[in-house]
Amino acid sequence: MGYDLRFLDVEKICPHCKEKMSCCEAPPIHVGDGLGWGSDVLFICLNDRCPLFLNGWDQIERQYGHHASYRYMELPDSKEGNFMMVGNSDAFKGCVIEREVLLAQNERFSREKEAVEGLKTCLEENNLDPVLTLLLDEAANGSARQSAVQYLIKLNDTKCIDPIRNHSFRDTALEHEINVAINGILKANFKKECPHCMEIIKAQAKKCLHCKEDL
Ligand SMILES: [Zn+2]
Ligand SMILES: [Zn+2]
Repeated sequence: MGYDLRFLDVEKICPHCKEKMSCCEAPPIHVGDGLGWGSDVLFICLNDRCPLFLNGWDQIERQYGHHASYRYMELPDSKEGNFMMVGNSDAFKGCVIEREVLLAQNERFSREKEAVEGLKTCLEENNLDPVLTLLLDEAANGSARQSAVQYLIKLNDTKCIDPIRNHSFRDTALEHEINVAINGILKANFKKECPHCMEIIKAQAKKCLHCKEDL
């Protein structure tokens, strides 16, 4: 999915330690009342020297008799402070959203969206790009990649073979479908792949033009 990126420009300072707060992915459910946070992200002070966090251990021990502390939290669009109870100093550190990672994710997502659009006109434009973008993107939507295979067959362009051969597919079922498609494309173009060097050569060749091996 694509994120709303407005919060990347938000900077929040913890009122307890004056350090910059971290932008974290919101846990799916607000434990307690079962409602969501109404936001994809939360700003949390993850400073281990924050006085709220340091003093929280004693406070919770005395009040509730268990081992936990507090982290200071604000929602992106609010200045209202909340306390998040944490059992150790690592809690939430795994959900910190890195600006660069998020920007890259969003870029990938918009490339995928563009490619899905591009499929609609790829036949009339004789354009392999959207098809290859989807097939070579392991994070792209599964059914979008499925329909890309169909367009791959219809485009019947041997230029698709090199980039596909240079890619390793995690989805073996999809990889199999693509291999079947490539075999069909080779046949339809009276071509084959040299079993020695994998270069594309004429179907009736007896000797490979590239590696000079006999076939
Ligand atoms: Zn703090
Ligand atoms: Zn060869």
